[in-house]
Amino acid sequence: MALGTGWVVDWVRASAEVVKEHRTELVRLDREIGDGDHGENLDRGFSAVVAKLDGIEADATPGAVLKLVATTLISTVGGASGPLLGTAYLKGAGAAGAATELDADALVAVLTAARDGVVLRGKAESGDKTMVDAWTPAVDAAAAARDAGGSEAEVLAAAADAAEAGAAATEPWVARKGRASYLGERAIGHRDPGAQSSSLILRAAADTAAA
Ligand code: ADP
Ligand code: MG
Ligand code: MG
Repeated sequence: MALGTGWVVDWVRASAEVVKEHRTELVRLDREIGDGDHGENLDRGFSAVVAKLDGIEADATPGAVLKLVATTLISTVGGASGPLLGTAYLKGAGAAGAATELDADALVAVLTAARDGVVLRGKAESGDKTMVDAWTPAVDAAAAARDAGGSEAEVLAAAADAAEAGAAATEPWVARKGRASYLGERAIGHRDPGAQSSSLILRAAADTAAA
């Protein structure tokens, strides 16, 4: 079943909850290979988004909600992840266009545009130990699930599973972008916080679509 604005709003609320729940874990991961603020950055950003959700128009499109998330994250999240995730939602909003519902094809287009936005903004490649390492496997898995005739919920579940595996895969790597890249080999053995938070956000997308 194609997913409408109600789903986007549910997803955003669930993202805010999961970021709050995992705030300490994200701070710990970022303390290990960054400056320890990732959980706070995202919690502040998504809390600000949730505060704006009640003000959205009754006839808002999924794209309009994604754009609200984008502008709010960009203006409230300090740190690299604000403009990066903000660009992801902004490009995702562009891909959603004026559609009132997102089918499996549209979801793949939104996720692909979001990933492309992160890459455009941050110039990281796969294997650089960043959130791209959650997003790119998620996009690939989503497209494969769509090609196999998967439902919207199945496409998002595939994306979430792949993002989780992608985030875990960053652990043994040296980082080539972001603060962790200053650490050289000392980044080895630690999961990238941005990849972890992106996998949580994508899991929230799948969970709300399945509910
Ligand atoms: P900051 O590093 O400015 O304190 P955050 O802690 O909020 O910002 O976010 C750090 C996360 O941002 C990293 O774990 C990584 O996933 C992501 N990141 C940093 N630089 C880049 C980049 N150039 N491209 C993609 N993601 C990046
Ligand atoms: Mg940080
Ligand atoms: Mg910081």
